[in-house]
Amino acid sequence: MALGFWRHRRLGQGRRLAFLAAMLAGFADAAAAGEPAALDALVHAYPDFLVGYDASDLIWRDGTRMPLSEGRPTGDFAEMLRRGSILDQIRLPYPAGPLTAGAGPTGDPGRVRNRAFFDKMYGNCWKGEVRPRLVGVVWLPRSWGRTIEATSVNGVAQRIAAVSAEVDALPLALRRYAYPPAGTYNCRTVADTGQPSMHAWGAAIDINTTYADYWLGHRSGTSDTGYLNRIPIELVEIFERHGFIWGGKWSHYDTMHFEYRPELLSDQVATESQPSAAELRRIGSGNDRRR
Ligand SMILES: [Zn+2]
Repeated sequence: MALGFWRHRRLGQGRRLAFLAAMLAGFADAAAAGEPAALDALVHAYPDFLVGYDASDLIWRDGTRMPLSEGRPTGDFAEMLRRGSILDQIRLPYPAGPLTAGAGPTGDPGRVRNRAFFDKMYGNCWKGEVRPRLVGVVWLPRSWGRTIEATSVNGVAQRIAAVSAEVDALPLALRRYAYPPAGTYNCRTVADTGQPSMHAWGAAIDINTTYADYWLGHRSGTSDTGYLNRIPIELVEIFERHGFIWGGKWSHYDTMHFEYRPELLSDQVATESQPSAAELRRIGSGNDRRR
């Protein structure tokens, strides 16, 4: 891929030196020990913002560096949900396509989100930075036809429109699960983690609440998580093709929820944006391209 080639050419020496430093230090650095595929997918998934990474940092087009792991021990998932690092948020692979028959989800792939990472891309809604970037999308023009709002950043609103067109063409027996939608942008945190929901960045959509199942709703008085889902896989696969993961694949399931996380769907999603020669010169000169 052109982008991958360019990225490695630019950062290759830095990465080799950093890798050597990590080896010499005698510890298995996370980036050196098996995370590169997930990090490559992350950089490739957000071409408008990211250019690469080294052993310690994620590198943005404007020159910003963000720590990959923040030096904390890993393994406590509840803690990761509250204070997930960039590596934590891509650590669990997301299983695209149908779930294995009879088995519920075994983890929460994508439910960890690094707040600084998403605030920088989409803005902080509590500071009024997300709303100005929202644009309207007519959801299911044939079936429902009202306007919902999603962020224009990363083409999320356009991708929701593409999902809408495909879903709208399905037979009623399938598309009825998708409307009326239960919400997109909502400046709020997730109840059990205190962290912003993807809705707070304008990059998530909840579909018809009539058919929704939620992990908290089935837990009262029992230790059984009792996975339940009524959303047809045909809908899920359309969302996944356009870069949205499904909350129905979390052990803490939320089956009406979809959010734009193309880094977890790198095999499915085509990211069209590639840097032009002029852009490469601009990046090379270190200009800040934040808008
Ligand atoms: Zn949701």
